[in-house]
Amino acid sequence: MSWQARSRDRTRAVHAGSPPDPSTNAIAPVISPAVNFASRYGELGLSAAATAGSAYAYSREGHPTGHMLEQRLAAIEGAEDATLFATGMAAVTAVLLQLLSAGARLVVSDSGYAGTAEIVRGTLRRFDVDVLPVDTADLSAVEAAIDDRTSVVFVESPSNPLTKLADIASLAAITRRSGALLVVDSTFATPLITRPLDLGADLVVHSLSKFIGGHGDALGGAVLGRAELVDRIRQDVGIRLGGAISPFDAWLILRGVETLPLRLDAHVANARALASLLEAHPFVTRVLYPGLVSHPQHELAVRQMANGGPMLAFSVTSPDAFGAALGAIDGPITYATSLGLTRSVVLWCDTAELQETTYQLPPAQLAAYRAWAGDGVFRLSPGIEDISDLSEQLATTLDNAFTATPPSP
Ligand SMILES: *Cc1c(COP(=O)(O)O)cnc(C)c1O
Repeated sequence: MSWQARSRDRTRAVHAGSPPDPSTNAIAPVISPAVNFASRYGELGLSAAATAGSAYAYSREGHPTGHMLEQRLAAIEGAEDATLFATGMAAVTAVLLQLLSAGARLVVSDSGYAGTAEIVRGTLRRFDVDVLPVDTADLSAVEAAIDDRTSVVFVESPSNPLTKLADIASLAAITRRSGALLVVDSTFATPLITRPLDLGADLVVHSLSKFIGGHGDALGGAVLGRAELVDRIRQDVGIRLGGAISPFDAWLILRGVETLPLRLDAHVANARALASLLEAHPFVTRVLYPGLVSHPQHELAVRQMANGGPMLAFSVTSPDAFGAALGAIDGPITYATSLGLTRSVVLWCDTAELQETTYQLPPAQLAAYRAWAGDGVFRLSPGIEDISDLSEQLATTLDNAFTATPPSP
């Protein structure tokens, strides 16, 4: 067995997929921006070119920089193959278009990423896919939702923004019996914290725009799993959908992956510390962090996750007061959308607004959703800054919002 095959996470993150460049001996990955690749009469087999890795034709179908990143991601996820997209949403869309057809049922988490809910609810339903949003943390609800037309169960673990977990091993046992495929969006866990394929999932999806790229400066998405299944997604939908990752973004993400294990240690340590700080504050009504004993699925987190993860969410007695106080002081935490970058970002995720653009759940299911989310949560993605600076800003914001002496009349 080669040293590469025996190597561990941190080594793989640096080395997998990019040995020194054979034509120049350059050690750092070489970016290859070419759209077109020379061929010979009778040899332009496009499909073959896209998979061969050494023979390319047109960069929408595959390019050398993307191929290096595919190999690196497959190595750290423990997957046979990976295929890349321009964004996480293109990856999600490609998987669903590949695995579903008119008349089929999709069972999907009722509290996941809004973008996924939007394509599922807004687009797939127009193509006569029977979309059934369920609480995928509830195994019996999932079992009841699966019928013989169900071809996909799509879950997120932890979910964005509520950090709800899906019990991947148990769900895999259920889908295996029914013949449906289990797809896990593992963006919040990264390949280093949860390994869905080892737990029995059929496919893993990542937004590379988040922790894997890690610097908030590149967009990408990936689908990983068995070689045959991943290659079908690449050939049937990926190439035709045209959501190809650019060589430059693939190169940036390749560089980002090298420090993923190191960055993640800092993200997770900061998330754990801020979760404890928030939990101790009297005006914080709820902290959702899988690493806290108070998380409703903490026991599952211990089984399924290497640690509590890099993301948390919290509620306060008055979101308006917190939001105003946050806007009034300077500090490293930026109010902004997205997550998984070196800088800390926080965003209010309003339950009523989210429901409007996503599934508009029936009353009983909405009540269960609200039991987690309340009127909404602040989603916090701690960066890799010094914890003292983050703690100081968060504590000051809470004090200004809730305990400052009101001005005398
Ligand atoms: C951001 C995100 C996506 C979509 O990724 P993009 O790269 O922004 O398209 C999908 N799933 C989850 C859980 C995300 O956080």
